[in-house]
Amino acid sequence: MWFANTTAQSLQGSRQDMKILVTGGAGFIGSAVIRHAIENRGYSVVNVDVLTYAANLDNLTSVADSPLYTFEQADIRDEAAMKRVFETHRPDAVMHLAAESHVDRSIDGPLAFIDTNIVGTAVLLNAAREYWAGLDEAGKTAFRFHHISTDEVYGTLGEDGLFTEETRYQPNSPYAASKAGSDMLVRAWGQTYGLPVVITNCSNNYGPFQFPEKLIPVVILKALSGQPIPIYGAGTNVRDWLFVNDHAEALLTVLERGRLGEIYNIGGDNEAQNIELVRTLCSILDDIRPDAAGSYDRLITYVDDRPGHDLRYAIDATKIQDELGWTPSVTLEEGLRQTVVWYLDNEAWWQAILDRGFSQDRLGLKVATQS
Ligand code: NAD
Repeated sequence: MWFANTTAQSLQGSRQDMKILVTGGAGFIGSAVIRHAIENRGYSVVNVDVLTYAANLDNLTSVADSPLYTFEQADIRDEAAMKRVFETHRPDAVMHLAAESHVDRSIDGPLAFIDTNIVGTAVLLNAAREYWAGLDEAGKTAFRFHHISTDEVYGTLGEDGLFTEETRYQPNSPYAASKAGSDMLVRAWGQTYGLPVVITNCSNNYGPFQFPEKLIPVVILKALSGQPIPIYGAGTNVRDWLFVNDHAEALLTVLERGRLGEIYNIGGDNEAQNIELVRTLCSILDDIRPDAAGSYDRLITYVDDRPGHDLRYAIDATKIQDELGWTPSVTLEEGLRQTVVWYLDNEAWWQAILDRGFSQDRLGLKVATQS
């Protein structure tokens, strides 16, 4: 148990009439959660998103006309807006995903990460607390605030071992530190005010609708356009890859049945070195979309490493497996193949992002002495 004064309560299974306020629902994981919640659970969802560069309402086309879906363009840092959103929509639960999420950007511009991830989370928590305090006893008991966080708060592993829910926080990037800070705020709102909170820390996600600044879509789009595929450093950094649809199922499972005041680590049990991952993507592309010029792995190009690049992340997901029965449904090879097929079939989705002027240029090379 992470919190001293909470009881082991759960929503005891899904409630068909549940209304969830999802922050950051126009992003990669948030939109997967919303599609899953509406299409497979029949929940109502209010999507609160300010629509930064990373947002894309095209991710939600399949649910946009559903009577179960509502969109509120609002900033989690805006106290008045958050109060209004809670009073207007009166949700049964919050799933908080809104964040600045790209480590390389946090190296170039850390303050935006502090502002959104820490200050924004505090403003949202406070609005949630005030709303929750005004609910009747049944509403108070049923309510929960679920914070979606990252395994990067734990820092880096060596060649052995796994992150558990007990691992000490040792964040190394400004992004990871801002998420660690937001986890601590959620904990404090649970401890101090009794707000029913739960936190999940997950490993690297991949899958359909991922913004083309993250490794896997970068590799796919660079390969398709015949450009160099960048590998940071020696390519030996290890990540534990989690398919986004598996993650969405895990998150709803924790919301429905997770114990209050707990942390659940969510991982794909799919460790791979970056270079192995990129070679696998190249071989899937060779298979599905062969290039007359030769295997796509000819494009692999080693570039300067990310400053402070954590060597290895890997999650021990025993707790969520044993307590809640969740396990990932796909292997890395299966998930990567589905992802490649999705990007090939959905060129209009990513081409629209590139047409808006998004460039896949390298970010995050600043060192501490630079401004
Ligand atoms: P994303 O960058 O794709 O989406 C973030 C969304 O939050 C965007 O739609 C953006 O418009 C919105 N947002 C940003 N600032 C906001 C603000 N001030 N007010 C309202 N909305 C705002 O991120 P993602 O990859 O979907 O990640 C979602 C969450 O999961 C984040 O909290 C992230 O830290 C966490 N997480 C992600 C991964 C991963 O591999 N992608 C891994 C672990 C944890």
